[in-house]
Amino acid sequence: MNKKKESKLEDEKIKPCPCGKTPIELYVVDSGQDVRWAQAYANCCGEWIIDFGTKSSPLDSEECMEYALKAWNDAPRGLVQD
Ligand SMILES: [Zn+2]
Repeated sequence: MNKKKESKLEDEKIKPCPCGKTPIELYVVDSGQDVRWAQAYANCCGEWIIDFGTKSSPLDSEECMEYALKAWNDAPRGLVQD
């Protein structure tokens, strides 16, 4: 079973998705494997999914969302021009 958590990003800076849109929400889902890893995707298209390390924080915690956001922003974007 995947857990799903939605969280508003408010004033956090989030980089555009490779689909070309800038999401306003990230969703965090259980990777189904190791609790130290989870996956994040955004409300824009839901198709670009990144893996990130949770450091074993709960998926519904703010910490975990911060890790997801950082991973989102740090992930290479082959289709997006700066
Ligand atoms: Zn997108």
